[in-house]
Amino acid sequence: MDPILEILIALGDIDAMIRDAESPEYKELGLTEDEDPIEKLKKLREECASKLPPNILKRYEKLKKKYGRGIAPVVGGICTNCFIHLPTSLVTRPDKNKKLETCPNCGIYVYWTK
Ligand SMILES: [Zn+2]
Repeated sequence: MDPILEILIALGDIDAMIRDAESPEYKELGLTEDEDPIEKLKKLREECASKLPPNILKRYEKLKKKYGRGIAPVVGGICTNCFIHLPTSLVTRPDKNKKLETCPNCGIYVYWTK
């Protein structure tokens, strides 16, 4: 897998975790007892983000602002952010996840799940 893509996926996961940890439901579950998971996650996020090339991070942040996330998995040939069918040329390529791809419709970073 492309190393940058790997970091982007991790960053996407961390952002989702931060969002969960900040939700009122999460607090109601009492999972935030004595530690502050958000602080920890934000630190982890910073570490992750610092490994990305600035132009990619910039684009990710822009996408996140627009869609609430910067990267989305492709499931069944469909971008899970905008739900369009990706072009066959992209879906059938043998080197999936080996280089960074974006959805031609919404522009989000995409990756293929196994
Ligand atoms: Zn899309």
